[in-house]
Amino acid sequence: MKGLIALAVWAAAAFLAPAMAQTPPPPAAGPGLRCAGAFQQGGLVLCKTAPGALLNVDGVERGAADAQGWVIAGFARDAAPKAEFLVRTPDGAAETRKTYTVRARQFSVQSVSGLPQQTVTPTDPAVLERIAKDTEAKTKATSSRADLDGWLQGFRWPVEKFVISGPWGNQRILNGEPRPPHFGVDLAAPTGTDIAAPAQGVVTLARPDMHFEGGLVILDHGQGAFTYYLHMSEVAVKEGDVVAQGQRLGAVGATGRATGPHLCWRMRWRDRQLDPQLAITALENARRFFKLDQLPPSSTPLLASGDGPRTTAPAPPAPAPR
Ligand SMILES: [Zn+2]
Repeated sequence: MKGLIALAVWAAAAFLAPAMAQTPPPPAAGPGLRCAGAFQQGGLVLCKTAPGALLNVDGVERGAADAQGWVIAGFARDAAPKAEFLVRTPDGAAETRKTYTVRARQFSVQSVSGLPQQTVTPTDPAVLERIAKDTEAKTKATSSRADLDGWLQGFRWPVEKFVISGPWGNQRILNGEPRPPHFGVDLAAPTGTDIAAPAQGVVTLARPDMHFEGGLVILDHGQGAFTYYLHMSEVAVKEGDVVAQGQRLGAVGATGRATGPHLCWRMRWRDRQLDPQLAITALENARRFFKLDQLPPSSTPLLASGDGPRTTAPAPPAPAPR
């Protein structure tokens, strides 16, 4: 009798097993994703997901969120109207997908004449060799990934008083020749005006005499976010320095390809050029959304996001968080 029961149990188990195997496991909860900032061409967004979650944007792997789940992403000047965000838990077991609408912007055409021709279309072999070496140094400087999250502090303007003499993204015509867009915002200020770090970062390049850029500093703010400071008359930091928000980097000048004293301020996120002016309002918006001003001080001091622009040009509007 005992044997018969055992056989019945075995038979029932054998009958049930395949049925159970076909029952899909309950869906694992995704890591979740909330983003705020500037959902527009050249814009930056700050997102919160699970610690260490892996980010994929438009089908390209874009690194991992930090230990608190913070991760950033940016949109190129020619970004498509929709961006696909996918975050996966570090073990790949669960994922969250979101589609964001990216607003298109209008860019105008800017003509600059009177530049030394060797800085527009160089032909001198010595100059070409120098440009190649500069390019190599810049590529190396932007291949680093500082283990910090300077953008979490928000960005401050790097110069206190200025006039915007060249907005970001303009189509450029240099000495009559169509050139790539202007991937910087030009802040006109007298030579010698202090330039300060907009947020914490590591100096990955500090050179007084690049061919196009003249005095150039590049800061790594973490997760592939870099800011650039061009045409400096003085470079006051060196490669490897960790600078705090507001720390002096050097001074405004007209070195390299420049027709007058100004700071050409640039930004990129990984391989995408971003608008640093827009990053200021994007991060203000995101910090409000995530209530970052209410967090207790951490090892990275969360300073107020600056005194705001002191400029004649209005800051672009930041859309509502999503
Ligand atoms: Zn510029």
